Amino acid sequence: MVERFQNFIDGKWVDAANGGIFDDINPANKTEVLGAFPRSDHRDVDRAVEAAKAHFPPWRQVPAPRRAEILFRAAEILLRRKEELAELMTREMGKVLKESRGEVQEAIDMMYFIAGEGRRLWGETTPSELPNKFAMTIRVPVGVVGMITPWNFPLAIPSWKLAPALVAGNTVVFKPAEDTPLMAVRLLEVLLEAGLPPGVVNLVHGHGEEAGAPLVRHPDVSLVSFTGSCEVGREVAIACAAEHKRFCLEMGGKNPILVMEDADLDLAVDGAIWGGFGTSGQRCTAASRLLVHKKVVKEFTDRFVTRAQALRLGDGRLPTTDVGPVVNEAQLKRVHNYTKVGLKEGAKLLCGGEISKEGDCRKGFFYAPTVFGDVVPKMRIAQEEIFGPTVTVLPVAGLDEAIEVANAVRYGLSSAIYTRDINKAFRAIEALGSGITYVNASTIGAEVHLPFGGTRQTGSGHREGGRQVLDVFTEWKTVYIDYSGKLQRAQIDMS
Ligand code: NAD
Repeated sequence: MVERFQNFIDGKWVDAANGGIFDDINPANKTEVLGAFPRSDHRDVDRAVEAAKAHFPPWRQVPAPRRAEILFRAAEILLRRKEELAELMTREMGKVLKESRGEVQEAIDMMYFIAGEGRRLWGETTPSELPNKFAMTIRVPVGVVGMITPWNFPLAIPSWKLAPALVAGNTVVFKPAEDTPLMAVRLLEVLLEAGLPPGVVNLVHGHGEEAGAPLVRHPDVSLVSFTGSCEVGREVAIACAAEHKRFCLEMGGKNPILVMEDADLDLAVDGAIWGGFGTSGQRCTAASRLLVHKKVVKEFTDRFVTRAQALRLGDGRLPTTDVGPVVNEAQLKRVHNYTKVGLKEGAKLLCGGEISKEGDCRKGFFYAPTVFGDVVPKMRIAQEEIFGPTVTVLPVAGLDEAIEVANAVRYGLSSAIYTRDINKAFRAIEALGSGITYVNASTIGAEVHLPFGGTRQTGSGHREGGRQVLDVFTEWKTVYIDYSGKLQRAQIDMS
């Protein structure tokens, strides 16, 4: 018997209005169905938005420190349930268990961090240009927030969004990715156990076009917070612009690691393996381009390919597994198609390049860690986000060329440089056009208390994480208090 799950609207667990369902499948074993979830449409979205709108006035009246205590308690519950949630995450989306534990930890970190903001949410006071007049800024909530999230970080990304939205006093309609609906249910349960009043967060499961798009378009949604692909993000931006709605978009990446001739090659290979094949390459910050100085490219590539070939594919719950499956069949086909594209473009396939059918791998969606050498910047495999375990190696003549190549893609999320030369490191920090740069560390591994996001087509100019995230989920209000008892005209009555 497959367990049936429901939407959570106005404090009640309910089916989709149309009665439709879809299955949630373990990508390491297609025959394991984790649950059946409501395949919602605009009617469910309408009800959820109505509930979120109704609960906004009382929720914003709850003092921020009290709202924050709920998040603090949620962090404690997540901590208590860390192992169970990590195991479930691996079953639902495939990442290896130690990474799943890391992701639960990231959600815990975010809840604790943002809980602290409940007693800050600082505005500013500043002198007025007029006597007997006081000037300050305060943050106010935005209203009903529509949240749409991807499957690759099914707990962390929703936490990055929910925690700041809630501490700021917004109410939410949350549409999680259709590949990872169960983690969304668990997160909501944690928030409810922590004391979140019913109706403040409403959960609507379903597919992008059917449930996501109506949420984006709904006139009572004041802000859409979206993480996902560039293509869908563009549609979200267009729909929001048509309604003069606020939006925050976190999208794709094609992140480079620059390996200079003076780099510690052992460290650089470690970083490239972790950045390229961690989460089977399905991270927005994945290191999918290695820009390696010509003087060391042969030695680096030999070592890198040897290490990539030794990675063991398998169910992420097994301690012997280094790399888990990709998330679904469409993703498997997409990754394999890029191998064909790379070969056609004349890149040299150095390892992998095939769907793995060995042993238990035939039960799921496994792709062999793949490395392409002799890649040139214009090739599609060096330009487009593959979002799988495929890494390209591009030889470069020096730092200037490396920076030029690094920046010559439409994305700008993360970048890394391996060098022992402090001057090169600082030049790279300055010139790399990405939202995040690592020195002597891989492109992945964000910490919650620093801003996260990218330039160009990676983002809409916002940052999640850090205190900067509050700028997404609040409006600034400017307040003037005149206690002079007379009319004072700014810019006119100069004293
Ligand atoms: P996706 O864009 O296909 O889907 C993301 C979400 O959008 C899902 O919930 C989906 O149901 C929904 N959606 C799809 N079509 C929609 C529509 N027309 N209207 C509204 N919602 C719609 O992306 P994905 O495959 O789930 O995730 C992978 C992508 O996410 C990659 O490009 C990756 O780089 C990106 N990502 C970015 C970040 C970041 O912070 N920059 C983090 C993680 C993932």
